[in-house]
Amino acid sequence: MSSSPDGGPTTPRGKVIVISGPSGAGKTSICNALLAQLTDAVWSVSTTTRPMRPGDVEGVTYDFVTEEEFVAQEQAGEFIESAEYVGNRYGTPRRRVEEVLSRGKSIVLEIDVQGGMQIAERMPESIRIFVLPPGTNVLRGRLEGRKTEAQDQLTKRLARADGEIALARQSGCYTHFVVNDVLDDTVQEVRRIIEGKAGKT
Ligand code: ADP
Ligand code: 5GP
Repeated sequence: MSSSPDGGPTTPRGKVIVISGPSGAGKTSICNALLAQLTDAVWSVSTTTRPMRPGDVEGVTYDFVTEEEFVAQEQAGEFIESAEYVGNRYGTPRRRVEEVLSRGKSIVLEIDVQGGMQIAERMPESIRIFVLPPGTNVLRGRLEGRKTEAQDQLTKRLARADGEIALARQSGCYTHFVVNDVLDDTVQEVRRIIEGKAGKT
């Protein structure tokens, strides 16, 4: 155990866990299951300019803001990382990450590859997991089955998938790749990675 300047014990900092992957790969499903199992980890609520969609809850799934509000927060340095994704802006609020880590809890960031690359540079000690779908047709089927996207968004998201997977591999910024075939198995695999019981992939 390390000690604080006054000699008392300090709380060890929690882990930063990045989960990325193409839209429809199953990131949110994995994170929800994971957070239900891990008592010492919390979800990072991102800020976005994307319109709310079915299932979204203000302040829980995202903080929904206008473009102007997002730019103001970005310029004030309030995001640890930020990115544009199919026409919308997304960012991870710095304050919450710092606050959670200082309490010794871990924080899960479900962010895109551009964000993953920024976190890899700024927080190299983070665990960065990229979720792959079992195949392109499965990805399409899951995204269509979710019924949350209008046709143009669905097309844009699928068109982006291959590029994201390629960038994730080329950038070398992910510590692990997992294929999300059977959800329960994937959640267990991600858990083993977080708990340090799996090798690098
Ligand atoms: P993402 O957050 O990566 O966009 P979601 O978690 O929203 O993806 O999953 C997309 C859809 O696929 C959802 O309807 C979800 O219930 C479903 N899904 C997720 N993982 C699996 C899986 N392993 N097998 C079958 N369906 C899945
Ligand atoms: P969605 O609109 O489906 O919720 O998210 C679209 C994409 O944006 C997903 O790849 C998701 O992981 C990513 N995303 C969500 N929040 C953030 C964030 O704060 N930063 C970055 N870089 N990407 C994010």
